[in-house]
Amino acid sequence: MERPSRRKQFLDITSRQFTITKIKMEPTFTGKSLEQKIAALTISGDPQDPFDRQKRILGWNQSKLQSEVCLLLGAGGLGTSVAMGLARLGVGKLILLDKDCVEVSNLNRQVLFNWEDVGKPKVLQAEAKIRREHHTNKDMIIEAYNMCALENWQKIVELSAQVTVIFNMIDVGDYFDAAVQSLCMARNIPLIQGGTFCQQITIDLFRQEHACFLCCSDTIKNESVERLLPSKILSESDLLWLPKNKNPIGQSNCYLCVMCSMMMVARYSSLLINDPDVELNGRFIMTVNSGESFQFNLENTDTCAFCRDKYGPLPPKEEVITEAVPEEAVAQETVVSEQAVATDETKVESQDISQVEAASEQKE
Ligand SMILES: [Zn+2]
Repeated sequence: MERPSRRKQFLDITSRQFTITKIKMEPTFTGKSLEQKIAALTISGDPQDPFDRQKRILGWNQSKLQSEVCLLLGAGGLGTSVAMGLARLGVGKLILLDKDCVEVSNLNRQVLFNWEDVGKPKVLQAEAKIRREHHTNKDMIIEAYNMCALENWQKIVELSAQVTVIFNMIDVGDYFDAAVQSLCMARNIPLIQGGTFCQQITIDLFRQEHACFLCCSDTIKNESVERLLPSKILSESDLLWLPKNKNPIGQSNCYLCVMCSMMMVARYSSLLINDPDVELNGRFIMTVNSGESFQFNLENTDTCAFCRDKYGPLPPKEEVITEAVPEEAVAQETVVSEQAVATDETKVESQDISQVEAASEQKE
């Protein structure tokens, strides 16, 4: 079938149907709240309000967004776009932390920087750029900390007392990620992480009482976990002792970083507005060049030291009740199996008693 031209394709709001040349299709975005979404298009807003258009989104909660305090660890490929996205959404406060200076090799994807920023501290340049170009919520407060997260862990602990979410975008390895997860558990706040690899982006949303980072990791050694437990993490002064991953130099570009960052911001805002049509699972993966995406929930593990420390042991799983197999039938099955092997006439693969009995009858 010939692909319809995009110019001939339009959405007819009144009849609520897509019309594509001669083909009429039901909207693909049908959800429980479609009627309400369409009704929301007719509300009168305030043209002087920069957030007028997003307030029309069903369930949107601008005042909640404006009370959010977001701690962004890292102001690089993901951090710059996440900061820009959050500023444009109108959050109440942005706290940026990074130790690096802008390098020429950052310019392909770190959207807040340009040639004149090279050699200068990332957070300070990012802060200045956001104030100048993305300060949509005039009341938004921005703080920037030009420091090493590992050396200044106690500063992060102190900042975390006021924040409502942490975006972890510092790439020093799984042990640091585990430490940030533990901090979020200690503070009862969500953690959002993102990653890009080749043409794939992954976004993890770790919420309280769901699977945590450590539930999904098998690379963290137990002796480090002991010091990183949610009940202990607030008292660590620095994390310089953490083992670091030896990651090779990453391969990344503008569209991978921006898409990953915007999906991080989108999932965070979905969490806040609680859209009934959005299923929000722990892990979202998208292959960017094919557009394929899927999401699934991460599973709590019984052995996770963080979850045990925070929530106690998992409740016992519901027992699966299986019918006891009568000894007589087991004996018959054994006889039948032996006969089947011996004569090669009958294959008994099922453990179902009735089949065993039926097979047994045939034999007899
Ligand atoms: Zn866990």
